[in-house]
Amino acid sequence: MTIRDPFIEGINAGWQAIDASKLVADRELEADVAIVGSGAGGGIAAEILTKAGLKVVVVEEGPLKTSTDFKMREADAYPQLYQESAARKTKDKAINILQGRCVGGSTTVNWTSSFRTPATTLAHWQREFGLMDLTAEAMSPWFDAVERRLNIRYWDISPNENNKLLREAAWELGVPVAPIRRNVKGCWNLGYCGMGCPTNAKQSMLVTTIPAALAGGAILVHRLRAERLVLAQDKAEALECTAMMPEGIHPLPWRVRIRAKHFVLAAGAIGTPALLLRSGAPDPRRLLGRRTFLHPTTVAAAVMDHEVKGYAGAPQTIYSDHYLDSVAVDGPIGFKLEVPPMHPVLFSTTLQGYGEAHGRLMAEFPNTHAMLSLLRDGFHPDSPGGSVQLGDGGAPVLDYPITDFVWDGVRRSWLAMAELQFAAGAKRVYVVHEQCAGYANMAEAKAGIEALPLKNQLARVVSAHVMGGCGMAAEEQRGTTDSWGRYRGLANLTVCDGSLFPTSIGANPQLSIYGLAARNASRLAEELTKRPAPALA
Ligand SMILES: Cc1cc2nc3c(=O)[nH]c(=O)nc-3n(C[C@H](O)[C@H](O)[C@H](O)COP(=O)(O)OP(=O)(O)OC[C@H]3O[C@@H](n4cnc5c(N)ncnc54)[C@H](O)[C@@H]3O)c2cc1C
Ligand code: SF4
Repeated sequence: MTIRDPFIEGINAGWQAIDASKLVADRELEADVAIVGSGAGGGIAAEILTKAGLKVVVVEEGPLKTSTDFKMREADAYPQLYQESAARKTKDKAINILQGRCVGGSTTVNWTSSFRTPATTLAHWQREFGLMDLTAEAMSPWFDAVERRLNIRYWDISPNENNKLLREAAWELGVPVAPIRRNVKGCWNLGYCGMGCPTNAKQSMLVTTIPAALAGGAILVHRLRAERLVLAQDKAEALECTAMMPEGIHPLPWRVRIRAKHFVLAAGAIGTPALLLRSGAPDPRRLLGRRTFLHPTTVAAAVMDHEVKGYAGAPQTIYSDHYLDSVAVDGPIGFKLEVPPMHPVLFSTTLQGYGEAHGRLMAEFPNTHAMLSLLRDGFHPDSPGGSVQLGDGGAPVLDYPITDFVWDGVRRSWLAMAELQFAAGAKRVYVVHEQCAGYANMAEAKAGIEALPLKNQLARVVSAHVMGGCGMAAEEQRGTTDSWGRYRGLANLTVCDGSLFPTSIGANPQLSIYGLAARNASRLAEELTKRPAPALA
């Protein structure tokens, strides 16, 4: 069966997608709006602003890879599609961060779970950051629009065994669980969303908004890194960019300078603050890059007496908010439970141990169930998150010390996951810690987990959700951006990605970013064109 590749067809029909690694000289471009980043925020903004009749240029550091390139192989996908080949780490190397670096950004490689911003999170933002216009009711029409656009809905196929085990365990213990909505259309239930969807079923920015923008006349320049904004008084005048070599790591000598009336930054919650820091953007309160949040994520693996085949079938279709809802939002850290897709490279590099011991764990791979806990960081005075800093050559580095407040949640999440996995019939449970040799029952797990030292590198913490760093707030002393994403101190600059969040979300963030980006980009379109913004869907 031949699968249509919208990019091959579109480029043949005249879409302007420029590969900067093929440049042989410097270039200058002019636009009404230059957008940095083509992921969740950048994609939505590109479609809305192009449909509004504005001349849009989208700059993307990563390559354009499409369904024709996606071969369901981790060894290809991580170097091509992820920041730092999927090995990006926090400054002390304690947390491994997964982020996309390709056209479509993290949406090209994400796992399709779609949650609206929880009402508790929005209420906290109102109380603590004065974001009174970001209520669940006010956001609802924006979520409705992006849900229609990206076909976000409940999925009527039975969950895979990995997800079913979470559901069965939760039923056994009386813990509430629910199905997860997904942004897919005609999904083949393969389970390889993290390597780029080979069937174009996943409604990522790669197959929805970016093609719509290109069809409407936008220009996409990929393998082009935005280095800095040229600022004059209270405005950005131009964006200076560097062409990248095909493998995406080393720069070429060619520069691209983009002049625009307005700049939209959507380089993700590490890339956007870093670009502003490199540009010397005004930051009188020294807030830029601060309060950057992850959902620090813990993992537990359980060997079952039957095949689980966690690599097959849609990932993350069942979840539980029990351990979020049972604590106050600003109390001890709560966590959301899901089960990840399991592929051998990602799994073995996350799992503890090496040599023979690690080999024995991996030999059980087909029978292994994995569960993860997303810790809701940023709602308590003891959870300040991290800060984006500049490293060698201006490259971003996220400093994210794991506090005792977070460690407490790490231990509680291990206990909760072990209890669920034993309830599902696990023969042996391993929480991902170098000194955990596996537990045969809950009594052993309880004693073992209580005794594990909570130390960097011993306890493995990961995250695929990066938020904050250009946080919104009603008052300038609390946030670099206002509730419309406008950067304070630069009249023609809008931030439009996950970096806007003043805390983590407490749910997988893509839908929160889509909704906020749709709202803010629509307002910007109205300001720039003096006409009503076009409907997204
Ligand atoms: C493996 C994985 C699984 C995930 N699963 C889910 C899920 O199931 N559900 C969910 O809700 N969320 C999920 N997420 C998270 C979600 O995809 C992200 O939160 C969301 O895409 C972030 O949107 P963004 O616009 O902030 O940044 P991104 O989507 O990351 O886009 C930023 C883009 O900017 C580009 N960029 C960065 N710096 C520069 C620069 N200097 N110049 C030019 N371009 C630059 C990057 O290459 C990237 O393409 C997952 C993420 C990953 C990595
Ligand atoms: S599970 Fe569905 S969305 Fe994910 S890669 Fe397979 S076909 Fe694509």
